[in-house]
Amino acid sequence: MARKAATGRKPAIATLGSHCALQVLKGAKDEGFRTILVSERKRLGLYRRFPFIEEIIEVDNFSEILGSSCQKRLERENAVLIPHGTLISQMSSDQIEKIDTPIFGNKWILRWEADREMKEKLMQEAGLRTPQAIKSKHDIPGLCIVKLHGAAGGRGYFLAWNRESFEEGARRLIEQKAIKGEEDLYIQEFIRGVTVYLQYFYSPLTKELELLGIDRRYESDIDGIGRIPAKQQLGAGAEPSYTVIGNLPLVLRESLLDEVYKMGQNFVDASERLVPPGMPGPFCLEGVYDSEGRFTTFEFSARIVAGTNLYLDGSPYSGLLYDEPMSMGRRIAREVKIAVKKRTLGKIVT
Ligand code: AMP
Repeated sequence: MARKAATGRKPAIATLGSHCALQVLKGAKDEGFRTILVSERKRLGLYRRFPFIEEIIEVDNFSEILGSSCQKRLERENAVLIPHGTLISQMSSDQIEKIDTPIFGNKWILRWEADREMKEKLMQEAGLRTPQAIKSKHDIPGLCIVKLHGAAGGRGYFLAWNRESFEEGARRLIEQKAIKGEEDLYIQEFIRGVTVYLQYFYSPLTKELELLGIDRRYESDIDGIGRIPAKQQLGAGAEPSYTVIGNLPLVLRESLLDEVYKMGQNFVDASERLVPPGMPGPFCLEGVYDSEGRFTTFEFSARIVAGTNLYLDGSPYSGLLYDEPMSMGRRIAREVKIAVKKRTLGKIVT
């Protein structure tokens, strides 16, 4: 259900101090908003360097955002909270849904991002090609990637090709106390090709879908493994991990772009059917292009992704739509600005 528009004072833009906070608040400032950062005390040194962050709410732990003192402060400022990966990874869906501060986008869809089964259902409703989910370690048909539940940023993922290699990887994670048991793991067909992250923005105000950027992740240590010759790799017996360290810019062959827009639009339409009010704002389809130029989506993010940090001054795609530097953070603020002017904030926050 769409939330009632905030009234009174012009909204401020708030976010948690991590992930893409700098981009979001810079964009908000450029669009003329007051900016608020909820920051853990240990990160204050970093965030105080940036004058576009006007107010900092200090916390020991991000879950304090649920407390009444933080909520009241945000309410007083008439804040709109911009959700990002840190909100998802540090809080449960129940907790996020209880936040009183208006959240930009659809906070109900964040549960669909966090839950593997719901996630698959939405991707299938959107008609996206997805990797096969393997239900049991006894049914592993070939090369698979084994993932931990939740937004773990690739940490702890491993490859398996049969029951033994799955059990070996699981045992290692149990020893490291990263998981309690094999039931915490999710097995997925490994798609060969190159990873691509498609960064979209959907505006419920104009009903337009925009492709604002594309990136790929730079993952340690799978992206560094090519620096070790095969002989030494075999000798070292090291298990590569998929921990995200940063992001690299990417442009696609132009012939692939039409399909990119179609996939994005299908995702928006499917979200409207399954999770009203749908997919207002930023989202990302994450997948692999194979050698036939086919895209298989292994994940989506139903909010801004950190790969958008690349394009603070705009991307090769935002440049086709805007004659000014348009980051995703700034695009979010622009949408809030237009909605406030038209008195339709209720369409873009929940
Ligand atoms: P995720 O946390 O699901 O975004 O995945 C982290 C990384 O694991 C991705 O950036 C890819 O490098 C890799 N990955 C995830 N799923 C697959 C898949 N089904 N096939 C191939 N690589 C994958």
